[in-house]
Amino acid sequence: MAAPALVHSDGSAANLLVREVHVLDPREGLDGPADVLIGNGLITQVAQPGTLSPKEHIEIVEGRGRHLLPAFVDPHVHLRSPGQEHKEDFETGTRAAAAGGFGLVIAMPNTDPVLDCAPLLRSAREAASREARVPVGFLGAITRGSNGVELTEMAELRGAGALGFTDDGRPVSDAGLLRKALRYQRLCGGVLTLHEEDPSLSRGGSMHEGAVSAALGIGGIPTVSESTILARDAELAGYEQGRVHFQHLSCESSVRAVAAAKERGFLISAEVTPHHLLMTDEHVRELDTRMKMNPPLAAESDRMALIEGLRSGVIDCVATDHAPHARHEKEVPFEQAPMGTTGLETAFAALYTELVLPGTIELSLLVERMTAGAGLFELPTPRIEIGETANVTIVDLQSEWVAGEHGWESRSENCCFAGRRLRGRVLMTIAAGSVAFRERAFSVVSA
Ligand SMILES: [Zn+2]
Ligand SMILES: [Zn+2]
Repeated sequence: MAAPALVHSDGSAANLLVREVHVLDPREGLDGPADVLIGNGLITQVAQPGTLSPKEHIEIVEGRGRHLLPAFVDPHVHLRSPGQEHKEDFETGTRAAAAGGFGLVIAMPNTDPVLDCAPLLRSAREAASREARVPVGFLGAITRGSNGVELTEMAELRGAGALGFTDDGRPVSDAGLLRKALRYQRLCGGVLTLHEEDPSLSRGGSMHEGAVSAALGIGGIPTVSESTILARDAELAGYEQGRVHFQHLSCESSVRAVAAAKERGFLISAEVTPHHLLMTDEHVRELDTRMKMNPPLAAESDRMALIEGLRSGVIDCVATDHAPHARHEKEVPFEQAPMGTTGLETAFAALYTELVLPGTIELSLLVERMTAGAGLFELPTPRIEIGETANVTIVDLQSEWVAGEHGWESRSENCCFAGRRLRGRVLMTIAAGSVAFRERAFSVVSA
C-alpha cells in the first residue's frame, strides 16, 4: 500500500459555529456573509448569516467583521529536521505555519542528513506524524546528498511518500543527469522541483548584481544565473515531457522563460515568494543579514515582472521558502551570513498590506495563489464546501500589527519583514479538521 501523502499529529476534531463571517473562496464562488458550522472536523453547513443556532458542545466564534478563507498552502518550507533543530523542528515550524494561516506545508529535504533515501524519509515522516500541527508533505532529494552527481532511488522515495523531488538549496547543474531524473519522474510520478542557479555565475556573490552591489562593493549574483539554467531546464522538461515546478522565481527574465515554456504546452509551474514580490536590492543597503537570501532580492523591474506574473497566472502560486537560521548564524558580517528568511508568519499580512490594500491585486486572487500549491503537487485544495474536512483560516483584515513585536512562533527570528507595520491578522487556523492555531486574544463567545 502506498504511503499517505501527508502526515501530522492527530488533534481533536473541531466543533464550532462561526457566526456572520465573510466567507471568501474564489474556487467555490463564495464571497459574502454566512454562518459556517464545523462538526467533528467537517464543514457541515454554510448558511445565511444569523440563521444557525448553537447546539450543545459547539463553540461559538464571532465572525462579524472577519473573513473565513480556505487555509493557505505553502509548497516550499524548510523545517530543518532532522539535524538542525536549533533552527526549527516540525512542532515549531508547523506552529509558525498555522499562525500564518497555513493548513498544509511541503518540507524540503536539504536537512542533515539530506532526505535522499526511503528510510530517512520514513523516519522524518514519523517524526512529523508525532509533532506537526498541520499536515506536512515531503519531497525527497533528486541526487544523493543533493551533491548533483548521482540520482537517488526516486521510485523508492515515491513509495515512501515523497510528493516529488528537489535538490533545493542547489541546482542540478549536469543537464544529462537532470534529463535522466526527468525520465524517472515520468515513470514514478511526482514533481521535479527545481532551484535554478548556475554556480559558475553566482559563485562569490552575496546579493543581486546591480547598482547597489557596486555601491556597496559586495560580490553580485546576476539574474542570468537563475534565468539561463531555468530556460535550459524548461527546454529539457518539454523535450522529455516531464513535470517540473520552478522554485522562487526572482527576476523578469525567468518570468519570460516560464511564460514561453507554458505557451508551448510544457508541464511546468512556478512559485514566487512574498519577499521577492515586495522587496528589492535597495533593502540590502543597510547590510541587514535578514535581507540575504537565495535567490537574492533583485531590481524593481524584476519585482514588477513577478507581480505581473502572479497576476496573469504565469506564476501559479506563492511559496514562502521559510528558511530559519539561528541568531548567532545570522549575526555575522553580511558576506558570511547564511542565506534565507523566515516567512510563514508574515506572508499573508505582508501581501495583503502591500499588494491588496493599494489595489494592485484582488484579495480573491491572493487567496487563490496562496492555496494553489496543493493542486500542483496533486493534493486536494482546501475548499469551503459542505462535506469537506475543515481547512480554513479566520482573519481580521482591519487589525494592524508590527511583525515580530510579540516574538515569533518559529524557533528562528530571521524574518525580513520584522518591524513592518502590517494589516490583516490571522485569528484562527483549522487544519485537517482540528484547531491548529488560535490567536491569544481571540476568545470564544461561549462553549
Ligand atoms: Zn532554493
Ligand atoms: Zn528553499
